[in-house]
Amino acid sequence: MPKFFDAIAGFRVTFGTMFKKRLTEQYPEKPGPVAKRYHGRHQLNRYPDGLEKCIGCELCAWACPADAIFVEGADNTEDERFSPGERYGRVYQINYLRCIGCGLCIEACPTRALTMTNEYEMADDNRADLIWGKDKLLAPLESGMLPPPHPMAEGSTDEDYYRGNIAPLAGDAR
Ligand code: SF4
Ligand code: SF4
Repeated sequence: MPKFFDAIAGFRVTFGTMFKKRLTEQYPEKPGPVAKRYHGRHQLNRYPDGLEKCIGCELCAWACPADAIFVEGADNTEDERFSPGERYGRVYQINYLRCIGCGLCIEACPTRALTMTNEYEMADDNRADLIWGKDKLLAPLESGMLPPPHPMAEGSTDEDYYRGNIAPLAGDAR
C-alpha cells in the first residue's frame, strides 16, 4: 500500500502542471514577437537614390569575432558607380553558419551600411545557402531609388551622401 501512495505522489507535479495555462509558442504557425533591438539577419542599406552605402572598407569583417564576413572592395568609376566616394563592396558575404549575432560588425561600420533586422527565420539544410551574398543582403529598392550603377545626384559630393543630404529621385525611378 505505501508503494501505491509513493507512485501517486510521484505524479503530483505532472497533474499540477496539466491544468496550468500553456506557455508554449505556436511556432511556426504563429511566430513569436521579438524585442525591438533583436539581432536578426543583416541588411546592407542604400541611400535614398539607390546607391549602396557600403564602401568596401572591411571594418565589419575585421570586427567580427567569428570570422563570418568576407568583403572584397573595388573602385567606382564614372561609368560604373555603385556607391558615393572611391570604393564599393564588390563582394559581400556573411556566413550564417558562423555568425553568433553579436552585432559587433554593425557597430564597426562607418557609414551605417550594415544593420541588423528582426528577421530570424534563416534555417536551411545546406552550407551553400547559409552563406548570404549581396543578392540576399541588399535592402530592396524603394520608391525614388534606381538600381546601381548610376551617377551620384547632380551637383552632390560624397560628403553630401554621408551627411544625409540626398533626396530620393523624382517619381518612382525603378
Ligand atoms: S553579428 Fe557578430 S558574429 Fe555575426 S557577422 Fe556580425 S560581428 Fe560577426
Ligand atoms: S558594411 Fe560597413 S564596415 Fe562593412 S565593408 Fe561595408 S562600409 Fe565597411
